[in-house]
Amino acid sequence: MVVSQIPKAVGFIYALVMIGVIAYLWYSGKWRQKMGWLLLVISVLLGFLIFSPVAPWQFQQLVLRDVQGLGAPLIVGIIGLFVVLVLTFMFGRFFCGYLCPVGTVQEIGYHAPVRKVNMRQKNAFLLIRAAFFVVFLLQAFLLSVSLLSWFGIRDFFYLALTAGTVVFIGILVLSMTFYRPFCRLVCPYGVLLSLTAWKSLLRLQRSDACIECKKCEKACPTDEAKRDDGKAECYLCGRCVDACPTPGALVYRRRNAEGKT
Ligand code: SF4
Ligand code: SF4
Repeated sequence: MVVSQIPKAVGFIYALVMIGVIAYLWYSGKWRQKMGWLLLVISVLLGFLIFSPVAPWQFQQLVLRDVQGLGAPLIVGIIGLFVVLVLTFMFGRFFCGYLCPVGTVQEIGYHAPVRKVNMRQKNAFLLIRAAFFVVFLLQAFLLSVSLLSWFGIRDFFYLALTAGTVVFIGILVLSMTFYRPFCRLVCPYGVLLSLTAWKSLLRLQRSDACIECKKCEKACPTDEAKRDDGKAECYLCGRCVDACPTPGALVYRRRNAEGKT
């Protein structure tokens, strides 16, 4: 594929710019869900065309010290992944929500008109992913094993017919009913993004206009819409805002002193 020769940096520049643009649109109240759809489609297309910005894969290649697989000089890869973390700390998980091809293809899958399974075991999911994170690091450091290859994220976007692609297609089928299984149970870079988003400076918060009807909580697929939720697993999908019957009750603003929403 000719387009596969385009540097991976192009995808990361797109991501870094768009995180700022989306944050501005949310903050200024100009964000519309159809903009989200446009970004979801563009990001998935970039995944197929240049396999970027696929941060979990780049993170794995960094841990494996595989500069060739990284698709960029080592220092560029480190800086790119670090800047995404800093922007996530500032603005929340817009990268996961709208820009990472692995996340966005699952987001599109969740729009399939099938029954949803909203499991509320947020802490259990975090524990599973933390355990996977430790295994991932040990395998990569000690045995140079590319664990994410088993999940097929690269093969799927390269349209390769492999066992990994079949696994990832299975994840996509699951994502139609269970929100973002790869992001919430597997992604090692997502662990770092969760940690930074948990203390993010800007986030969705309830204002004084909130009438406590809890419709946002019912609509949230990750159980992050309660007042005291930390937002580590908030993908800024906007479902809570759509479900809210009171204009202005949910606002994207600077975290208040207690860190509550
Ligand atoms: S959690 Fe990982 S796979 Fe999911 S969107 Fe974020 S970086 Fe991508
Ligand atoms: S529904 Fe709201 S709180 Fe839940 S993940 Fe989406 S934007 Fe975040």
